[in-house]
Amino acid sequence: MGQANGQHRTHWIGGKPWTGQAAQRGDIYNPATGQVSGTVDYAGAAEVDAAVSAAAAALPGWRDTSLVKRAGVLFAFRELVRARQADLAALITAEHGKVASDAAGEVARGLEVVDFACGIPHLLKGSFSENVSTGVDAYSIRQPVGVVAGITPFNFPAMVPMWMFPIALACGNTFVLKPSEKDPSASLLLAELLAEAGLPEGVFNVVHGGKEAVDALLTHQGVKAVSFVGSTPIARYVYETGTAAGKRVQALGGAKNHMVVLPDADLDLAADAAVSAGFGSAGERCMAISVVVAVDPVGDELISKITDRVAKLRVGPGDDARSEMGPLVTRAHRDKVESYLDTGVAEGATLAIDGRAHPVEGGAADGFWLGPSLLDHVTPAMSCYRDEIFGPVLSVVRADSYAGALDVLNGNPYGNGTAIFTNDGGAARRFTHEVEVGMVGINVPIPVPMAFYSFGGWKASLFGDTHVHGVEGVHFYTRGKAVTSRWLDPSHGGVNLGFPTNQ
Ligand code: NAD
Repeated sequence: MGQANGQHRTHWIGGKPWTGQAAQRGDIYNPATGQVSGTVDYAGAAEVDAAVSAAAAALPGWRDTSLVKRAGVLFAFRELVRARQADLAALITAEHGKVASDAAGEVARGLEVVDFACGIPHLLKGSFSENVSTGVDAYSIRQPVGVVAGITPFNFPAMVPMWMFPIALACGNTFVLKPSEKDPSASLLLAELLAEAGLPEGVFNVVHGGKEAVDALLTHQGVKAVSFVGSTPIARYVYETGTAAGKRVQALGGAKNHMVVLPDADLDLAADAAVSAGFGSAGERCMAISVVVAVDPVGDELISKITDRVAKLRVGPGDDARSEMGPLVTRAHRDKVESYLDTGVAEGATLAIDGRAHPVEGGAADGFWLGPSLLDHVTPAMSCYRDEIFGPVLSVVRADSYAGALDVLNGNPYGNGTAIFTNDGGAARRFTHEVEVGMVGINVPIPVPMAFYSFGGWKASLFGDTHVHGVEGVHFYTRGKAVTSRWLDPSHGGVNLGFPTNQ
């Protein structure tokens, strides 16, 4: 990759790197070393306007490109991403810190959305009713929205953009991506691969930066729709600001995902799942399990099994194939996550596993390390329960019954993902019916829907009414149009001022 191999990253506008002088730049860190590894230009209103203008100029040609040709670009892009999967994963590991296998997994899940978007000729088929009135036919079509923006978080620098742009582009929109300023490089390699796949200049653009760039996108009259993924306060802000400016907005927010373990569950399976889903990617996943709700009497035995497994986890640099868990994304975030260990204890929880004592194997001393921790006897009143910690800290809440566990879940303001571990099909079915959460796993700890279903939470985990990818993604990036047509024949009637009724 030309541009992203260097130490400096800039915007991608109109099919090429931006050549201007940025008024502001930010540092990029390697979380495993704690050192600055590069810099990234931050966009202001002028750069955002340049990107939106490039996207607007490319729109007429792209929306009139045939469905089969648009799908053809995505098929070519799919092969290029597959060929460069390891390079993408290496960029992600270098800036995010997650281990290489996890980074490759994120690219693979993103590719599934590309696979889905390759089917756009089928997905955009409308419906047709012949003879809705005598000699009159009706049909529906879906057309692109226009220039759309995607604003994405640090924790999936490839996958979350790939939840959005493959479908948006397949639907005939043009796109401006504003990835996280913490790990901007993966999006630039994706931009290069789209160009190599034959995507015309200006159809896909990338601007970097923070609030200023986001605000410019949210208020730009040329942007018709915004997809956002990030924390709940910013998601709410993006939704309110974007919709006030007349845009269509889907804004996915933070999470506090609970895993309920019923007394009949296979506790080895549940312990494996709690450790994998709690500490994978250092807990920096919106679908990470952060709370285990242990229904009496399983708590002590479950924690003992989790503790055995955690002791064996290898924490170290993401580019060492033996590492299972990497560092946190920034020093500030690491310190904030660590602070919950002390506040949790001060509020009455038991620190059953202290991640500060966990060995780091092969990491530089200044890396943003924090090992896996477990707080037991957590209650919903504690800040370690209320806040989204977004790090390797698992809380255990004890419940006396299924009903008590459900009350805990449904009392939580978030509603992204959840899981229940049980061998009782009736209990699992009841839970699926009663829980106020958007994505449910039954003996599956991270129930991320496949690309052909839609991803999205409930309550404070999503603002707007459309989830991402799947059929809901196609709907978000298109506007429906209903057409009623009559081709005149010799028997057409004359003037009729009455409201059209079927005849
Ligand atoms: P974040 O909210 O800090 O940032 C998300 C995006 O918003 C970034 O592009 C960032 O530059 C921008 N941003 C940050 N502050 C802003 C401000 N004041 N005004 C306007 N824009 C601003 O989130 P993050 O720390 O990058 O990512 C982690 C969060 O994302 C967690 O809360 C996690 O749960 C959430 N997340 C949710 C999902 C989901 O599907 N619901 C998926 C992944 C991550």
